[in-house]
Amino acid sequence: MQLAPGVHRLGDDRVAFLLVVDDDGLTLVDAGLPGSRRDLRRALRALDRAEADIRGVVLTHGDADHIGFAEALRAEHGIPVYVHEADAARTRGDQKAPPTATPPWRMGAALGFVGTMLAKGGRTRRLGEVRTVVDGDVLPLPGSPVVVGMPGHSPGSIAVHLPEHRVVAVGDALTTRHVLTGDTTPQLAPFTDDLADADASLTRLAAVDADIVVPGHGIVWRGTPRALVDAIRAAR
Ligand SMILES: [Zn+2]
Repeated sequence: MQLAPGVHRLGDDRVAFLLVVDDDGLTLVDAGLPGSRRDLRRALRALDRAEADIRGVVLTHGDADHIGFAEALRAEHGIPVYVHEADAARTRGDQKAPPTATPPWRMGAALGFVGTMLAKGGRTRRLGEVRTVVDGDVLPLPGSPVVVGMPGHSPGSIAVHLPEHRVVAVGDALTTRHVLTGDTTPQLAPFTDDLADADASLTRLAAVDADIVVPGHGIVWRGTPRALVDAIRAAR
């Protein structure tokens, strides 16, 4: 799905990630599940590009359903993988996510998510090496991604803002489709480490100047981050 000229959303509403395309090469924002690499390859074929054209992978955070095939790209092509310094240990598997209370779930939606995990899963390879980023960094990659610190879901969660394209990818800082209930009310994502931090991060997101917001799970929001944050707060 092309969201804007040069920005494609790959995967689906269950597990999504972004591909940015320009004349200098490609940038990936998140890397889905291990089997999501098939989605990437299909998109690259359609664009007449190759994996080796990818200049970097930016991870919104260090959870397995976002790391996906990143290590394979790094190991096979030497593609650098960027992650916030506070999630670096999580991406390398040195540190597990702290336990969170079991969120509510509904059978159909939960089975759908588990089905996606099984279809595209397999063992996620942890990162052998990462480049760390902090809030405010502008990365030297196609699309000039800007790092917006969004601690809460995990300490090193970030939003990745593509100012030229007016798109922002938010990972699991929020969701428009709860993976376990199927609820499409915009809300904080399940398995969030720190709800108070996550809510404060929404205030930061509201200040980002963009027209399209892409969650890691759920439908694309075609509107400003501020309108989305207002919708989350109004739905409580
Ligand atoms: Zn996720």
